[in-house]
Amino acid sequence: MICLGFEGTAHTLGAGIVDENAKILANVMDQYKTEEGGIHPREAADHHVENMQKILKQALEEANLKMKDIDLISFSQGPGLGPCLRTVATAARALSATYSVPILGVNHCIAHIEIGRALTGAKDPITTYVSGANTQIIGYESGKYRVFGETIDTGLGNLLDMFMRELGYGFPGGPIISKMLEKGKYSYIELPYTVKGMDLAFSGLLTEAISRRGKVRDEDLIYSLTENAFSMVTEVTERALAHTGKKEVLLTGGVAASSYLRKMMEKMCEERGAKLFVPPVKVCVDNGAMIAWLGLVEHKSGIKMSLNDTIVKPNQRTDDIDVTWRV
Ligand code: AMP
Ligand code: MG
Repeated sequence: MICLGFEGTAHTLGAGIVDENAKILANVMDQYKTEEGGIHPREAADHHVENMQKILKQALEEANLKMKDIDLISFSQGPGLGPCLRTVATAARALSATYSVPILGVNHCIAHIEIGRALTGAKDPITTYVSGANTQIIGYESGKYRVFGETIDTGLGNLLDMFMRELGYGFPGGPIISKMLEKGKYSYIELPYTVKGMDLAFSGLLTEAISRRGKVRDEDLIYSLTENAFSMVTEVTERALAHTGKKEVLLTGGVAASSYLRKMMEKMCEERGAKLFVPPVKVCVDNGAMIAWLGLVEHKSGIKMSLNDTIVKPNQRTDDIDVTWRV
């Protein structure tokens, strides 16, 4: 069985094709980019409309398949930006109707978890999902993926990007920071560190760091902001391991590309006797293959959707979904 999956929750439009063994036959993406400022939902949706045919064609070519070879179509149903979600859902519905194949809308965050489990061999991990807009510490318990902790303001990637943009380093800032941290030695400057229960807040850290600008070296400020933010995420992950007794961590989302964060997580896991798993970067970022894989997994477990069920859910929560495919 072969599934074609579409990702379109925010700025990335992706089309992926996956078989029953989680073999990725194609995984193409195209990103909406802005010169300045954040993402404009309507413009991002226009980008997805303009590029949908192109990425579908590229995905089929990469997989060396035709639409008639596709047995199932899945798409990112939520959470995400309404206009982006609707655009991609409309394309998925049209293809499903035209080629008479079943359609499934799937949860974006769970797609990150399931492709991560399939590709790394992690069985029952605490997932630390750190992307541009999302930061969640998630674990499976009693039929659901439970969110043990999450950001109450911005996502970890957005924090890094906003700060670097503010300092004039360009976009996205995350990879620039990563390169910088691999090189030099920096001095730590005291900045806010905000963990509330199991939740995280980054806005105080951002505001304070911005206010120090010009008074200390940029590099020290960047290092200290990143050190605090990554430590906060690592702390909550460690507490989730302690609460649940789980012995695996799956680190995913775009910020998982950071070797600095990986090292910090690795050290924490080592100290606790847990194991860290990080999927290949191409599936850590938003992508169609993870949507295709979750579509397949859900379909095989017997989940079906009528067209009416495919309405998009911008505010869908990870723990809204009944995880019937895991026992
Ligand atoms: P996503 O939303 O999953 O597509 O991830 C995008 C986010 O990942 C952006 O905020 C990037 O700044 C961040 N990112 C990408 N590569 C790195 C890296 N090497 N280190 C830190 N952050 C990164
Ligand atoms: Mg994502």
